[in-house]
Amino acid sequence: MSTFQDLNLNTPLYNALSDLGFTQPTPIQQEAFNVVASGKDVVGIAQTGTGKTFAYMLPILKNLKFSTQENPRVLVLVPTRELVVQVVDEIEKLSKYINLRVLGVYGGVNINTQKQAVAQGLDIIVATPGRVYDLAVSRVLQFKSIQKVVIDEVDVMLDLGFRHQLLNIFDILPEKRQNIMFSATMTQDVDDLIYDFFIAPERVSIAVSGTPLENISQTKYTVPNFYTKLNLLNHLLRDTEKYNKVLIFVAHKKMADRLFEALDEIFHDELCVIHSNKTQNYRLRSIEQFREGFNRILVATDVMARGLDIDNVSHVFNFDTPDFPENYMHRIGRTGRAEREGQAIIFSTVKEQESLDKIEALMQMEIPFLEIPEDVVISTELIEEEREVIKERNNPLRLKKSDEVGAAFHEKSEKNQQENKGGSYKFKIAAKYKKPKTRGDKNYNKRNKK
Ligand code: AMP
Repeated sequence: MSTFQDLNLNTPLYNALSDLGFTQPTPIQQEAFNVVASGKDVVGIAQTGTGKTFAYMLPILKNLKFSTQENPRVLVLVPTRELVVQVVDEIEKLSKYINLRVLGVYGGVNINTQKQAVAQGLDIIVATPGRVYDLAVSRVLQFKSIQKVVIDEVDVMLDLGFRHQLLNIFDILPEKRQNIMFSATMTQDVDDLIYDFFIAPERVSIAVSGTPLENISQTKYTVPNFYTKLNLLNHLLRDTEKYNKVLIFVAHKKMADRLFEALDEIFHDELCVIHSNKTQNYRLRSIEQFREGFNRILVATDVMARGLDIDNVSHVFNFDTPDFPENYMHRIGRTGRAEREGQAIIFSTVKEQESLDKIEALMQMEIPFLEIPEDVVISTELIEEEREVIKERNNPLRLKKSDEVGAAFHEKSEKNQQENKGGSYKFKIAAKYKKPKTRGDKNYNKRNKK
């Protein structure tokens, strides 16, 4: 078992930790310390409550030299104002014996007061993306000295639709910087962001236990497509006694809406949904309705359902097969709580087989397979995402470029005559607008992906 002494901190940090009564680093703090301290780009997978704020702040504070310069050197981005307050609070506790200037800024309050605070000079700024961008655009806040950017709870941030704001911020940050990102779940959006902006990032995560709780029994169905999954789900959910409190997971909000609408036809009064496009009030109401048993079925996305603590969930359905096996572990952990029996059911298409293999590999077990009941209709109808994009090759009916094309049936008027001066629309646009900045060689990142 390691202690904070193993991390080679300095006396002010030791004293602060001692005042807090913390004696041992948490697993994510142990894992992340050297990697964050090394200056490399880092992707950390850890949930709130694991000590992740100190996981990135300990190495950052250890290496941050005293300075009197006005512009901040560390930027911490978080999705909500509550988190700004919480992170500032944590940093203040840790820097009790360090001469450090830290400021939290978020939207919805007077920007002028924040401008004055920024102008006083600071070392670390903790912010929500929109407000920090406004401050930077107003030029009161200068990003030129930023050396480290922490993006915390990035999955929530992207799910709330902050991707655009993040890209705007990246655009005006110094190119030479360390990117540190923390996320509780891996989603496709998070992966895309890492791929586009991080340089050969190191990944740290507290190993998600691949051992599911013993009281969760798991089964799997191989189902050809969305509509057959829907038919199977409808068939199973008709048994209201057995399936008495059902949480259905889907990967993203579009799918949540689609499934909700489809199920609504049959289970109207028993159904509710949560995803990030719904208002906070709507989400709270849905969760309450489900928790209290007024609604039997809740459709949810991974990010929104994270940490949901609801008792007596009888079944967790994985309507799709998560790409990241950790998400599956999080999902099924919503059932089988408090020693009660829980059931987890996963639907996979042929395309999702690879993801299913990864889940089974993590758990080191094969999920028992069930046949689709005979009276479930196997649909051949496909949703947009399932349709193959058919590339036409060697279509003898299509004209080759070299084939001569006859005159159009009417001549163009003088003003519509256009001369092709060579080059393409793409080049014109590229010349007109600034090329988007991407850092690093994407293929390099891909090769080095763990
Ligand atoms: P976080 O995951 O950063 O939200 O932290 C969760 C809580 O754990 C916070 O209240 C921290 O102050 C606390 N904490 C952080 N590191 C430690 C530690 N090494 N030992 C005990 N508690 C800690």
